Amino acid sequence: MFIHTIPSLIANIYLLESDAGIVIVDAGFSSAARKVLRTIEQLGYAPADVRLIFLTHAHMDHIGSAAELRRATGAPIALHRADIAKARAGKHKMPTGRGSAGKIFEQVFNGTRMSFWYKGFEPDILLDEHFSLREFGVNARVVYTPGHTLGSVSLALEDGVMLIGDAMINQVRVGMPLYGEDNALAYESLRKLNALRPRVLYSGHGKPFSGADMAQYFEIKGLSTERAHV
Ligand SMILES: [Zn+2]
Ligand SMILES: [Zn+2]
Repeated sequence: MFIHTIPSLIANIYLLESDAGIVIVDAGFSSAARKVLRTIEQLGYAPADVRLIFLTHAHMDHIGSAAELRRATGAPIALHRADIAKARAGKHKMPTGRGSAGKIFEQVFNGTRMSFWYKGFEPDILLDEHFSLREFGVNARVVYTPGHTLGSVSLALEDGVMLIGDAMINQVRVGMPLYGEDNALAYESLRKLNALRPRVLYSGHGKPFSGADMAQYFEIKGLSTERAHV
């Protein structure tokens, strides 16, 4: 299994390449479809070799091209049910900000009544904890990691490799994104990921980072690694 990264402006799209073909993890902004299809072709595959379009959560920088990629590949779209409303609507507002910077962004954007637009869609598969990707050629299972959005999920692959969407990002340094629908849940989800002892984490933003980087974040922030709910 190989993981290929396609940058979509500030967000990452991942292609999981296996003997069975390709699984797309996150679909980038609305402009990303052509780049994704070109990369798939460069790897020696046809659009029909895409087995699944897996979405970590329904923010426009992760689902913008989902409908277009489904049309081009015929592959089903998988998303957690808690993020369906945003997928259907084809737009969402600036998400709830975290910390002072996030709050300022949220207020400025929502003051303008601006929405983020993309092509709306209905997912074909509803994701939940433990959902297996084996039938799509990838030995991975879903870990439900809500907080950033209520429908955020991560993917646990073999050997401690994880794809975590925006549960944690690595833009300037490893940390939490500026936006989150439920902060307490977001931290709980981090503890859940940490307890699975990841070796390397592929985020929706920035370069991959190690489980040690994640543990260091807990230390710097003085966060307990103990989970409230087991
Ligand atoms: Zn996001
Ligand atoms: Zn994002």
